[in-house]
This record gives sequence, C-alpha cells and structure tokens, in this order.
Amino acid sequence: MNLIIVVGCFGLLITILLLLEQWQQRIAERDRERVLTDIHEAEERGTDKPLAQHPQIDEQACIGCGNCIEACPEDGVLGLVDGIAKVIHGSRCIGHGRCAVVCPVNAIQIGLGELAKSPHLPILTGELETTIPGIYIAGELGGFALIRVAVEQGVQAVEEIARDLALAGALKKGQGDLLDVFIVGAGPAGLAASLKCKERNLKYVMVDQDDIGGTVRKYPRRKLTLTGPLDMPLYGRVKREEFLKEELIEFWEKLIRTYQLNFRTGVRFLGTERSSNGFIAQTSAGPIRARRLVLALGRRGTPRKLGVPGEDLEKVLYQLLDAASFTDTRLLVVGGGDSAIEAATALASHKGNTVTVSYRRANFFRLKQRNEERIQRFQVENRLRVLFNSQVRSIDGDSVTLAQGEEGREEELLIQNDYVFILAGGELPYPLLRAMGVRLNGEDATLGASLKAKDLVEA
Ligand SMILES: Cc1cc2nc3c(=O)[nH]c(=O)nc-3n(C[C@H](O)[C@H](O)[C@H](O)COP(=O)(O)OP(=O)(O)OC[C@H]3O[C@@H](n4cnc5c(N)ncnc54)[C@H](O)[C@@H]3O)c2cc1C
Repeated sequence: MNLIIVVGCFGLLITILLLLEQWQQRIAERDRERVLTDIHEAEERGTDKPLAQHPQIDEQACIGCGNCIEACPEDGVLGLVDGIAKVIHGSRCIGHGRCAVVCPVNAIQIGLGELAKSPHLPILTGELETTIPGIYIAGELGGFALIRVAVEQGVQAVEEIARDLALAGALKKGQGDLLDVFIVGAGPAGLAASLKCKERNLKYVMVDQDDIGGTVRKYPRRKLTLTGPLDMPLYGRVKREEFLKEELIEFWEKLIRTYQLNFRTGVRFLGTERSSNGFIAQTSAGPIRARRLVLALGRRGTPRKLGVPGEDLEKVLYQLLDAASFTDTRLLVVGGGDSAIEAATALASHKGNTVTVSYRRANFFRLKQRNEERIQRFQVENRLRVLFNSQVRSIDGDSVTLAQGEEGREEELLIQNDYVFILAGGELPYPLLRAMGVRLNGEDATLGASLKAKDLVEA
C-alpha cells in the first residue's frame, strides 16, 4: 500500500515537473516569437538600423542575462533571441550606454560600428575642424547622438577656435560687423558653444532656423531625458543627470537669460563662402561675416515648407510628437509619405479627431506595405478622408483653403481646422555641407596634418 502511495507521489511529482518544463518552454517559445515579430516589424518600419552610436554585442561572450534590456531607458531597442541579446529597434537607441555598464561579462561596446564608414559623416580632425579650415562641426552632425557629447563638442570647438585665433593674433574685438565665431544651430552643441564664446570674450552670434533647444524641443511631451553629467561654461557642473524634456528646455532658456547670450531664432543658414578675413555666411536674414564657423546643425535636417500664407501660425507643425495629446480636434495632415500616413492614422485613432490628408499626387506611391494597408483600411472605415490632387493655398486661424483637381481646373475647398501638420519631407544637412565643399566620409581618404594647414588670411 505504502509502496503504491510512494510510486503515485513520485509519478505525480514527475508529471508536475514535466508540465512545469513544458510551461517554461512554452513561455520561452512565446517570448522568442514576440522578439522575432518585433525584429520583423522593425525591419518593415525601417527602425532596425541604428542612426548613431549603439550597442555592439559580442555574441560569443553574451550570457543572455537580460540585464542590458532592463537597463535600457528607451523602448524596444534590445531583445533576447535564443539567449543572446540583439539590437531590435536600433533607431530608438540614444546611445546612453547603460546596457554596456550593466553587462556582467563586458559583451557590449557602444560605438558607431559600421556607421563610422557612413558616407554622410563629415571628415573631422581631432579638433573638430572640417576639411575646410576654419569651419568646425559640433554635436550630432559629427556622428555621435548624445546631449553630453554635443555639449562637450560645442565647448571643444570654441576652445580650439580661441586658441587658433590667439595664435593667429586675430583676437581683436569690435571690428565692425565681423564676428569671431558664427554658430549655427541652437541645440545643446550650439548653446554650449555660445556659452564658451561668452566665457572667452569672443564676439559671436548663434542662429537657428527654428527655436532654442534643438532636437530636445521636439521630443514627445514629458519625455525623460538622460543627460549624464554636463559641464556648462560659465554655469559650471549640472548636478542633475535626468530631466523631463520641458525642464531641460526651461534650464537652457534660463542660461540664455542669465548670461545674455546673443542669438537669433527663425534664421536659416544657407551656405558660406570664403572672404579675405574668414567667411561670409549666407542666411535667410542676410549675410553674416565671421572669422570662424561652428556648425551645430544636428542631423535631422530642415522640414520642407509650403510657402503659403498663414504657414507661420502657431497651429502649423512639422512633426507629430505625441498623437495622444490631440483629441476632439480638426486636423489636416499634408503629405503622402510614410511619416504623413503614420501621423494621420495615429491622430485618427484618438477620440473625437477629424482628420483630413491632403496629398498633391493622384495616389500614394512608395508607401511601406503596412502603411498602404492601414490608410486604405482607415478610409474604408471612414476614420479619415484623403484629398488627392490637392494643395494648400492658405492657412487661417480656424480654417484651411485648399485647391483640388487637375492643374488649371482646380476647385477651392475651405475646411474647418485647428492644426495643420506639414509632413512633406525635408532636406538633410549633407547636401548643404557638400555644397560648401566640406568633405564627407568616403569622398576623400586624406585626413590629418594637411587639414590643419591654415589658408585663412586674417584681417
Ligand atoms: C526622441 C529622441 C530622444 C532622445 N533622447 C535623448 C536622451 O535622453 N539623452 C541624450 O543624451 N540624447 C537624446 N537624444 C539625442 C539628442 O537629442 C541629440 O543627440 C542632441 O540634441 C544633438 O544636439 P545638437 O546640438 O548636435 O543638434 P540638435 O539638437 O539636433 O540641434 C540642431 C539645431 O540646428 C538647427 N538647424 C539645422 N539646420 C539649420 C540651418 N540650415 N540653419 C539654421 N539652423 C539649423 C535645428 O533647427 C536645430 O535646432 C534623443 C534624440 C531623439 C530624437
């Protein structure tokens, strides 16, 4: 009898263990499938490729502990496949490097990897000077996408310039409208460069085609921003290492007020040419003469504008940061590419929104399959409407006027409207650099000493 009980208990235990193992296997299989689906989705959406520095994982060394996944403050960058960490949504990686810090077996390095060979990266010397002596690049335009790096490089570029101008004996102040330094871009790199100019008593101005804050201002609302330790010229060490996006912008605005930085917003840099004592930069507000240039343009480019009356109204936006913050509103999305369709369908998914898409062509083309299917479904379900062959004529406070139809036979259409999103593509900064003669990776392998040979004639 006892033996039967013992055998029965043993059998039950074995069955429980087997079931437990099966259950664990099923969970592992489900997790694996989820990660593989994420990888597939990332490839389809084009978010798999990192844009800047990112984790490079030594698969032989990785023990699959998952610490890196937990430590990453961004969403979906890393995942485990068959017990090995993999980069999934590479484009979401900001390069904080926390994954590398927590890896117990040092299997992660943060670097640019293959991106270092990207034909879009400008060739820079160790002093951040481009192949055109006197033109410096700081921040994300140089390849590394981190606020801390942008700040360090903004400072470094101006330090190099100050040393260089002092060596050339050209540090004379107050020479008419000739600046010592012209800084383009008011993101973290441009701000740090301006503070450094002020600290070094250089004559400078900073311009931005947009507003102060650069890419940070365009983050989603209340995004947690990890800055790490920052050393801001004049201000000193910033002890806090994490901010909400709004707090960081507020902090920078305070720095600008406190140190009375020279800046102009809404001014676009268009290119530059040499002059006898430096450069004449062309901007949308006219020429600016400077001995040295710091380009802190970032890598996100300039959104295409429509050039119609009313485009400067506050309700006109060139990026959708957070679809959830729009409810019960009348929205027009202009454009027919993937970002326009993703924005339109995201907006149409929120309560009470009336979404219209205006596209100048007769149909969508070159959309990702997923977006093609999505926009068709949204149209069939009457969740938004698409006006093909249409163009915005003018934008008013609570309406938009469009012209729709074949050229010469258009009809005017007035629609009620609260916000306009213009997502009609844009220009990346690389053609601008190329047009100025700045060499990008792959164009010329000549690096080093020859680039430092100054051919600027100082006044
Ligand atoms: C969603 C998101 C989240 C991020 N989170 C973090 C984070 O938590 N921590 C972190 O360290 N980094 C983060 N980053 C990266 C960080 O924002 C960037 O690396 C940093 O802003 C780069 O600074 P920058 O000054 O080089 O360029 P930007 O901040 O991009 O600023 C460039 C400025 O140049 C201006 N400009 C461009 N072209 C012209 C022109 N022709 N004329 C005039 N002005 C021009 C632009 O309007 C812009 O204001 C994040 C990035 C994104 C997209």
